[in-house]
Amino acid sequence: MEELKNILARHGFSFKKKFGQNFLTDTNLLSAIVHDAGVDETVTVLEIGAGAGALTRELSRAAKKVVAYEIDASLRPVLAETLSGCENTEVVFGDILRADLPALETELGRYRVVANLPYYVTTPVVMRFLEETHGCDGLTVMVQEEVANRFCAQPGTAEYGAVTAAIALKGAARVTRKVPRAMFTPRPNVDSAVVRIDFEPGRIPVGSEEAYRAVVRCAFASRRKTLENNLMSAFRLPRERAKAALERAGIPDMARGETLSPQMLARLADVLQEEGVIQ
Ligand code: SAM
Repeated sequence: MEELKNILARHGFSFKKKFGQNFLTDTNLLSAIVHDAGVDETVTVLEIGAGAGALTRELSRAAKKVVAYEIDASLRPVLAETLSGCENTEVVFGDILRADLPALETELGRYRVVANLPYYVTTPVVMRFLEETHGCDGLTVMVQEEVANRFCAQPGTAEYGAVTAAIALKGAARVTRKVPRAMFTPRPNVDSAVVRIDFEPGRIPVGSEEAYRAVVRCAFASRRKTLENNLMSAFRLPRERAKAALERAGIPDMARGETLSPQMLARLADVLQEEGVIQ
């Protein structure tokens, strides 16, 4: 196939920074990402950000079916060319953050997300698929390396935070490969990494996901404060009640949020719910 850069030039396409447009072209890398994502002929894929269709094409070759979202309608003629012959692939021009997810999930059935994510929407996209989906079995996403490290961080490290805890509730995350900035066109200022998150229902038992999320927000609200102080201000609790809740959850009262494993956060969520602090 003609080089992607030439196809883009022929269609008069200009890269838009505001959409995080850094495209991949290396076929070996693209097929390695498809492999990392565990995509085979039994898997339906939702791709976010088709771009010029380089990853979409590789996904189409391997998957049962691909639905690819792309916000930039000026890529329509490019994608018509690069995806010609990809019969199992549909491109939807729209913003994935505004997509009607329940309707999309009805169309997809069980599916996996695969994306070279635009950096400016990485967290909202990942959070949406953690919190709102019913049919998603996991995400394989290329993100900035620093963000990848946050996704996979261990408790007690500087990288561990609210997004790590949100991911851990749903699945196991691991970096499958690092991707140097030179692999992208145009070249960004940072390196990237591919993270695979496999959803495992019931991985961390908790009475209410909503309560877990409230505890996570509270635990990381102010990293310099102890969890006890964060609990007092988030839930308007007197010190004695905050202390008692931590004790019931088996958490030392001087602990800071970032030292708590997702399991401990879940225990605290259960205690706060039982005590009526979180409805
Ligand atoms: N998949 C292509 C690749 O790997 O070369 C393109 C990746 S590029 C980093 C991200 C793509 O996502 C861009 O084409 C951009 O226009 C698109 N995009 C940005 N924001 C989006 C959104 N909210 N919904 C859907 N697509 C979006």
